[in-house]
Amino acid sequence: MTAAARLPHEPARGIREVESGYDVEEIRADFPILNQQVHGHKLVYLDNAATSQKPRAVTDAIVRYYERDNANVHRGVHYLSERATEEYEAGRTAAQKFIHAADRHEIIFVRSATEGINLVAQTYGRKHVGAGDEVLISAMEHHSNIVPWQMLCEEKGAKLQVAPINDRGELILEKFEQLLGPRTKIAAVGHVSNALGTINPVEQIVKLAHARNIPVLVDGAQAVPRIPVDVQALGCDFYVFSGHKTYGPTGIGILYGKFALLDAMPPYQGGGEMISSVSFEKTVYNKVPLKFEAGTPDMSGAVGMRAALEYLNHLGMENIAQYEHQLLEYATGKVSAIPGVRIIGTAKEKAGVLSFVIEGVHPHDVGTILDQEGIAIRTGHHCAQPVMERFKVDATARASFGLYNSKEEIDALVRGIQKVREVFA
Ligand code: PMP
Repeated sequence: MTAAARLPHEPARGIREVESGYDVEEIRADFPILNQQVHGHKLVYLDNAATSQKPRAVTDAIVRYYERDNANVHRGVHYLSERATEEYEAGRTAAQKFIHAADRHEIIFVRSATEGINLVAQTYGRKHVGAGDEVLISAMEHHSNIVPWQMLCEEKGAKLQVAPINDRGELILEKFEQLLGPRTKIAAVGHVSNALGTINPVEQIVKLAHARNIPVLVDGAQAVPRIPVDVQALGCDFYVFSGHKTYGPTGIGILYGKFALLDAMPPYQGGGEMISSVSFEKTVYNKVPLKFEAGTPDMSGAVGMRAALEYLNHLGMENIAQYEHQLLEYATGKVSAIPGVRIIGTAKEKAGVLSFVIEGVHPHDVGTILDQEGIAIRTGHHCAQPVMERFKVDATARASFGLYNSKEEIDALVRGIQKVREVFA
């Protein structure tokens, strides 16, 4: 029986059972897309940091929603509308539990991690950041956690401060601390870097910022699919992630915010759902979280997201993190042993992202040759151009692992890289 076939009614497989044998073949059977040939080879999908594949439990849940429950939410008194609302709100509760938020009202459905960051920059940021103030980020951020703050700073005449990273791709905490000044109004850092794989010490970062009453937004787009996340333990004020990188559907993401902060923030977009009453003279906004959810929301997205989070719970995030760490160690050993290969990002605390360059070969050529072998990796700047600049490369090749990847697939990657070297010898 596949893992999906047991979902969601049977008891979750215990952690001990998974530890004693994380059955990747059984898990792979839940992901139909993996079972195909590309250019005459078995597909090896190693582009999980860009987006991950969806288990049948997710696609089934979305189909079930449209075939059985679909109606617009919150506004209707009829049966289907009530059921759709229950489904949508169950997605919120699932996200709350998954990241251990204190209150389900602290979960806001957005389009993506990107929209979550823009929402905070455009509401909290516009309210609190003024001329001469500062926003602090790190040098390893994804463009999504740079540009919204840059736009805000430009509008307000504020300054974007950037905490540097070392040659391993780790945040230099002392520098970060020094940059937390009296004008710093918010700090925004990634939990896991998509370009380097670095896991940042978020708890410590939050403590340093909170000691100066500075709130912290954490970009968890790469963390939530890879490691257990507990926003209360981290202590952060805002946390964002995307459904599509978390084995869920595209078009939905989560913004977590501490209730008091969300409650005091102005709304983001205007429209239906986010109001409690409207007249031409005055509009009264709805309560959190609906205040931030203007218009008809992505109901099927919330349903799919819940199914994805249930799937992850079922496998256990500790098990997934442990398994991906084993894959990373195995891949790092094999890939770094290939002559001419340099790994970019060698942090002590790292998640399943392996960025590398091959001497004398452009990363795009690496990607193209690997594609001919059926191996999907990503090449380019990974929406982290400042990281590329820091390591003095234009681009890297990046293999990123997911819960369904196997050691055999890493062996295929290694054979592919050797082939690239032969072609360019
Ligand atoms: N932050 C990080 C670290 C990411 O890797 C990504 C996606 N590559 C994002 C933010 C943005 O995610 P999305 O495109 O889903 O909004």
